[in-house]
Amino acid sequence: MNTTKAKAYSASSPTSPLVPVEIDRREPGPKDVEIDILFCGVCHSDLHQARDEWHNTVYPCIPGHEIVGRVTRVGSRATKFKAGDLAGVGCLVDSCRKCASCLAGREQYCTAPAVFTYNSDDVVLGGKTFGGYASRIVVDEAFSLRIPAGLDPAAAAPLLCAGITTYSPLRHWKVGPGQKVGVVGLGGLGHMGVKFARAMEARVVLFTTSPRKVEDGLKLGAHEVVVSTNEAEMAKHAGSFDFVLDCVSAQHDINAYLGLLKLDGTLCLVGAPEHPLPVAAFSLLLPRRSFAGSAIGGIAETQEMLDFAARYRVTPEIEMIPMQKINDAFERLLKQDVRYRFVIDMASINA
Ligand code: NAP
Ligand code: ZN
Ligand code: ZN
Repeated sequence: MNTTKAKAYSASSPTSPLVPVEIDRREPGPKDVEIDILFCGVCHSDLHQARDEWHNTVYPCIPGHEIVGRVTRVGSRATKFKAGDLAGVGCLVDSCRKCASCLAGREQYCTAPAVFTYNSDDVVLGGKTFGGYASRIVVDEAFSLRIPAGLDPAAAAPLLCAGITTYSPLRHWKVGPGQKVGVVGLGGLGHMGVKFARAMEARVVLFTTSPRKVEDGLKLGAHEVVVSTNEAEMAKHAGSFDFVLDCVSAQHDINAYLGLLKLDGTLCLVGAPEHPLPVAAFSLLLPRRSFAGSAIGGIAETQEMLDFAARYRVTPEIEMIPMQKINDAFERLLKQDVRYRFVIDMASINA
């Protein structure tokens, strides 16, 4: 297999910082697109994975799955892009394309399983897939996304994970006018959850542990912001929500949020903390509540989300960083100090 070299940032153990390395990318095959990465968002999953908080990381680990770049070459049978186009890559780079999930356009739930953008088996080159903290990526065009005109390419990057991960469950649980919807945690996912739920015309209440984020929550589209450490404020909302989207990256009391649901309401977890979250039986039994989960979204749904974001102007709030600042950015994520997504300006990787 012919390869070309790319620059990247890689973690070599759970405790080592990300450092510059050189990696191989495959030469584009007939259905591939080769993309020079312009921007890559920094998802909390990148941090979980780099530090082996999900206990499955294979090193070296090159995170990054909110990728927007410029197409440089396309394979002989690839028709979706031409050189010079903008293209996106999210959390998925392949799947079996035959199982029931794949046939239903839910490639993220492929039973084979799906090939994720990093830390999955790379069936072409061997070893593990390497993500978007890199100068270039090569991907099957079936797993690439069009970036609609009118979306700023840097701000579009976080849509490819934070955007679709919040959009997909809001759609699946049919959030819309007349519903009261909670979003828990104002980080990368949470701020997109607030924006999408508002664009879908629900009544939106944000729950945050950070009093300093109250004003931002309102500006981003929440009708109301509750500081979740305030028990009296929480009690006012007990048993009143149709749907709650939990976007928290760390340990927290899930029962406090289950208690917000009314009869037949659903709490959907999209946050992926390292340790289990204990659920008290009576948080679910009375009154008949559902506790669910959701992972990213399929490729067609991701394209639908991008088109929705462009049409309704639902775009992430970003802070641009150079590649060299990635370790600082990880530390700031842990301090809940991000407004509200870091995006790496990949031109800096050559600095
Ligand atoms: P993030 O930007 O770091 O935001 C996480 C937010 O959670 C923080 O801003 C904070 O909000 C809240 N939080 C953090 N520590 C907390 C604590 N100890 N107690 C209570 N609240 C706390 O992270 P993200 O990129 O949005 O990702 C959030 C989670 O979703 C991560 O676990 C990530 O791995 C996961 N994720 C899952 C999927 C999926 O497919 N399901 C996709 C992407 C990411 P406040 O300051 O407002 O309290
Ligand atoms: Zn992510
Ligand atoms: Zn499949």
